[in-house]
Order: sequence, then C-alpha cells, then structure tokens
Amino acid sequence: MLKVNNIQTYYGNIQALKGITLDIGEGEIITLIGANGAGKTTTLMSICGVVPPKQGEIFFRGTPIHNMTTEKIVALGICQVPEGRHIFPGLTVKENLEMGAYLRTDHHGIKTDLEYVLDLFPILAQRRHQQGGTLSGGEQQMLAISRALMAKPRLLLLDEPSLGLAPLIIQQIFEIIRKINSEQKTTIFLVEQNANLALKVAHRGYVMENGTITLADSAANLLDNEDVKKAYLGL
Ligand code: ATP
Repeated sequence: MLKVNNIQTYYGNIQALKGITLDIGEGEIITLIGANGAGKTTTLMSICGVVPPKQGEIFFRGTPIHNMTTEKIVALGICQVPEGRHIFPGLTVKENLEMGAYLRTDHHGIKTDLEYVLDLFPILAQRRHQQGGTLSGGEQQMLAISRALMAKPRLLLLDEPSLGLAPLIIQQIFEIIRKINSEQKTTIFLVEQNANLALKVAHRGYVMENGTITLADSAANLLDNEDVKKAYLGL
C-alpha cells in the first residue's frame, strides 16, 4: 500500500531523515518506535506532504506522492491524527466529526460512518453537543481518531496516540485501533514511544534511531529482541 524509498528530509540545514526505507502492506498495522527526536514524527510529516522529502520517493498504491500537496494526498486516502490531537476546540463533537468528512459527497456513507464512530466511542455519543475544547485529554484523542475515520482513509497515520493519557484510557484506545483495523480493514501506521503497547497491537515494526531505521522485523520478534528490550521496553 505504501512504499517509502530512501527518503531524506531536512528542516533548513538540519537533516532529520537520513535515508528512510519502509513498506506497509494493505491491512497491516505497522509501528515505528524510537526515542525522542529519532525522526518518527518527521517520517509521518514527509508521508503526508507537510514536510516533503528533499530526496527519495514515496508511493501510495503505486502513485508517487512525494511531490504532491497534502490536500491531494488526503484525497487519495491517507489521513493523519497528529500528536497533540488538534481538534477544533470551539466546535461541538458532532461538528468536529462532520469536518472530518469535508472532502466526501456520499451523504449516506457519511451518516453510516458517523453512527459507526459514535458506536465505537459511546462517550463521544453522550457528548456530541459539547464543545471539543471542553473534553478530557482521552476524549479529545478519541475525537481526533474518530474525525480522521470520518474521512474514510485507506491508510491511517497515528502519531503518539498514548501521549499524556492514563493507562486505562490508553488500553481502550489501543483496543479500538485493533478494532478499526479488523472491522474497517483500515491500514494503520502507528508512531509510538510506548513500544510495549505498540508492538503488542502491530503486525510488524520498525525501530528508528537518529534519522535512520536500525531494525525491521515482526512485532513478535521485536518484543523478543534483547536490544529492543533494553532500549525501549525497560526490561
Ligand atoms: P518525539 O518522540 O520527541 O516526538 P520524533 O522521533 O518524532 O520525536 P521528530 O519530531 O521527527 O522526532 O524530530 C526529528 C529531528 O528533527 C529532531 O532532531 C528535531 O529536533 C528536529 N526537528 C523536528 N521538527 C523541527 C522543526 N520544525 N525545525 C527544526 N528541527 C526540527
């Protein structure tokens, strides 16, 4: 579904990505783990065209997207839930969800998907008329994921969905990630510092250090890998 081929991405003179190569197959949950500043967010930003790579190529379902605008990339079916959520604080929960579907014209499908996400997160159904900015951190994360689902993406990019949330809420969100993947057949690329949880939900994973990929394997093998255990799992 997605092929990233040797991309190099810069912020001015600072090289954040030093040749990243990875692939994501249809229906997979792939995780990218690594320490602070390794370049995980930049990888997502390069895929969705916010910080385009200076060199290298990215193909989405065979189409080159490394020179496309973010709007075109979204229209092809890639949707990102950014770190920090970025919901619209002054809009209600329902309005936030409707904003997620702004590129769609299939009104019947939008209605069905609205019902689906409210069913997925019953707390959002209860709070559908409440302003987004008044929700708790966990509820805002649920809203951000739901809003992205309203775009009906083929590939969902999740940046640190566990950040700043209580363990019980994190558990809930990871169960939903698994559900979205199995029920909606949405392919998921999950960036996480919580490597333990991310590797438990993912099929395969990549480990990133200092702008490069240092390991690529099945999630089960990475969970068992002594270096990964020491550096990222606190074991
Ligand atoms: P974290 O887990 O802390 O979010 P990360 O793995 O997502 O980290 P990135 O945010 O991609 O890492 O950052 C990779 C490198 O690029 C870091 O050295 C960071 O300081 C640098 N960087 C990120 N954003 C910018 C920016 N807007 N301007 C300059 N440098 C940046």
